[in-house]
Amino acid sequence: MTDTATGGATETSATSGLDFVRQIVAEDRQAGKHQGRVHTRFPPEPNGFLHIGHAKSMCLNFGLATEHGGLCNLRMDDTNPTTESVEYVRAIEDDVRWLGFDWGDRFVHASDYFDQLHNFALQLIRAGHAYVCDLRGSQVSEYRGLWNEPGRNSPNRDRTVEENLDLFARMRAGEFEDGARSLRAKIDMASPNMNMRDPAIYRIRRVPHYRTGDAWCIYPMYDFTHPLSDALEGITYSLCTLEFEDHRPLYDWFLHHVDVPAQPQQIEFARLNLSYTVLSKRKLLELVEEGHVAGWDDPRMPTLVGLRRRGYTPAAIRDFCDRIGVAKSNSRIAVAQLEDSVRQDLNQHVPRVLGVLRPIKVVIENYPEGQVEHLEAVNNPEDETMGTRRLPFSRELYVEQSDFREDPPRKYFRLAPGREVRLRYAYFITCREAVKDPETGEVVELRCTYDPETRGGYAPDGRKVRGTIHWVSAAHAVQAEVRLYDHLFAKLNPENVDEGGDYKDALNPSSLETLTRCQVEPSLVGAEPGSRYQFERTGYFCVDADSREGRLVVNRTVTLRDAWARIEKAQASGQPAT
Ligand code: ATP
Ligand code: MG
Repeated sequence: MTDTATGGATETSATSGLDFVRQIVAEDRQAGKHQGRVHTRFPPEPNGFLHIGHAKSMCLNFGLATEHGGLCNLRMDDTNPTTESVEYVRAIEDDVRWLGFDWGDRFVHASDYFDQLHNFALQLIRAGHAYVCDLRGSQVSEYRGLWNEPGRNSPNRDRTVEENLDLFARMRAGEFEDGARSLRAKIDMASPNMNMRDPAIYRIRRVPHYRTGDAWCIYPMYDFTHPLSDALEGITYSLCTLEFEDHRPLYDWFLHHVDVPAQPQQIEFARLNLSYTVLSKRKLLELVEEGHVAGWDDPRMPTLVGLRRRGYTPAAIRDFCDRIGVAKSNSRIAVAQLEDSVRQDLNQHVPRVLGVLRPIKVVIENYPEGQVEHLEAVNNPEDETMGTRRLPFSRELYVEQSDFREDPPRKYFRLAPGREVRLRYAYFITCREAVKDPETGEVVELRCTYDPETRGGYAPDGRKVRGTIHWVSAAHAVQAEVRLYDHLFAKLNPENVDEGGDYKDALNPSSLETLTRCQVEPSLVGAEPGSRYQFERTGYFCVDADSREGRLVVNRTVTLRDAWARIEKAQASGQPAT
């Protein structure tokens, strides 16, 4: 696998501009294959929440169907009763809808086909293509052989059809304990492809299923269920990730050995891997269960519920999937690419506000006590229709601690003793004195003066200031808790671990920083969870579900890096920063 700094390992055709999957579909349609139909499916197993990798699969499956006026089914791939639940099913439905996809009336379950799948198994037995095997787990593996060495036939391989029918009926009737027997396809124990060495079709699991209850104690295996479910639904393209490439001969074998109504085609594409995170439901579940994160929807999680709580938009995620494309070789995409899509979307669509993350008090000594005025501020310079709002300004303000330096380094253009800066949308102020805590020596307050002639942020005499900082009026500000996030893992590829190590060793101990005394402008009073903003200069933020009346909790969705770089450039050239 290649680690790309910028990702973008898409393989598109130079002539058509289409990725390889879309190219196949376009050619098939031209040739009239499947009568020109395009029917795909998105088949999650309801054993966890969906993550950004699933989003890639959804964008491909639903996207392809839409592009060709076709259909995409949402199918619960629910053949493993020990790990599946209806809560996960509901969460999956929510996530698919949230991402913007519509399955119409085609919400289906592999468990809908348990009867039909059982009949297909009987067909295989009757045709001499399947047998009941008495080998247990470890023996099965021993008989299977190694990749460079053929396997051995099961001692039960030559059972008669009658014997097999009888034993299979007794498996289904619950006569045998878990693992005591299995139904296997009779293919080729010497095949170079391990998947073809008489794979299991049914196993005994005396566990109730969240939908079928106690109706079954034998459950069909994935490799058997998947092609036959696809065929029953009339799927034309069964798109899956590259790990299944070696399973394709088996996929096709089942389609050819039972009587199915359609011949779907399996096509494999590269799964999404993202830097600084893991995309495996099993691992994500472990992080939740062991308390490394607060839940599936922890804003540091790569799950769709996590990204959503963090403030990511469906449009940004779809744009990201679009930009990374669909390729045939695995790579790791830089999470910065995803953040970039988020920034671009939010930059255009969310209002800008002023919020101070680490406040320090400013007193404007020459501003009259008790006076309040309202200054006009632009809600989003990218979108005039978003209008303006009025910011209260008064004698006492908060600014960012980091916007003051007692001893400023070169090229520091913000507040320092004797220095003049622009308060965004307001006035020029000059710092006269830094008041210190007599015990600790820490600067606790800045005494400043303002120039009343500079209202709106420009001096009539044309004098320039190089720094523009944000602020809020102390008497009007709302206190907020702000949660800042960093990558959940400190390593580019957390799965690449040293001998004896674990991906969890790579967890980033400072992935969450909580600031409890932030001060934000009053327009955020009563903001609903899910409301998104840009806090000028500090990033994009989203009101968290933990907010209550009187308690504002905000997540930083993503930093502002790119836009901030622009402001700094403008300041350096002495232009008013916008
Ligand atoms: P995980 O590895 O997270 O457990 P999975 O493949 O077991 O994933 P499923 O619920 O079976 O999860 O996945 C549903 C669909 O999403 C499958 O078609 C699968 O190929 C696709 N998918 C899962 N993970 C990714 C990924 N990282 N990139 C692209 N597609 C993915
Ligand atoms: Mg799976």
